Amino acid sequence: MSISGDIVIFIGPPGAGKGSLSYLCVQQLGWTQLSTGNLCRKHIAEKTPLGQRIDFAIKSGKLIEDAVIIALVEDWLKEYGADNKAVILDGFPRTVFQAEALHQLLSQEFPKNRLYCIKMNISDSSVISRLTSRFICQNNTCQAVYSTLLGSGLKSRESGRCDHCHSMLVTRSDDNLEAISKRLALYNKSEHELLDYYRSTGKLIGEIDVEKPLQDVFQDLIILLKQQSIV
Ligand code: AMP
Repeated sequence: MSISGDIVIFIGPPGAGKGSLSYLCVQQLGWTQLSTGNLCRKHIAEKTPLGQRIDFAIKSGKLIEDAVIIALVEDWLKEYGADNKAVILDGFPRTVFQAEALHQLLSQEFPKNRLYCIKMNISDSSVISRLTSRFICQNNTCQAVYSTLLGSGLKSRESGRCDHCHSMLVTRSDDNLEAISKRLALYNKSEHELLDYYRSTGKLIGEIDVEKPLQDVFQDLIILLKQQSIV
């Protein structure tokens, strides 16, 4: 089994818009998205043994153990990655250990795939205002992201309801100030290490400013992807 598409990694803090940008790539480019956060939340909502084990860590803004996340990604890639589409990794890898595991997995099982990193630039203060205004669709298979922030372009058409599946919109259990500051601090520490790792392996890292309306961010992304012949 092999993945024939490219692998694009979005590296950005919580609230950078990885999920919303991934959604546009899925809709407009026909790509596939793997969000490890969405997978974890699905396990929690379905009360699987894994979900029960990771529930508290997620609520309190901690990272899930590397081995658990790596196993989830490996299973997902083997099941869904074997088509002709590019795959967006949204929220993975988050540590150098995970990046090394991904490298090993790709080089052993999917050697033809190119991997491209996109770093999303945004200030901590914007992250905090975005996360405290964020809602997600409570339907596990949807989890669409909305925002009450003016100018975000992410307001739902009907208040409190998802545009896609009409389910209720809820606040994520980790979008409270205490968990947000923990997640942001963790991210800022690991971003450095992760980027150093990718630079040391000679990977190209594209950068985009994500403090813009989502459609403009998407256009900037397309320019970068064209430069790399990914679209
Ligand atoms: P996200 O939806 O990407 O913001 O992720 C939500 C939460 O899921 C994170 O705060 C972590 O607790 C967990 N999580 C998601 N991806 C990873 C990962 N690659 N490594 C460790 N924990 C993760």
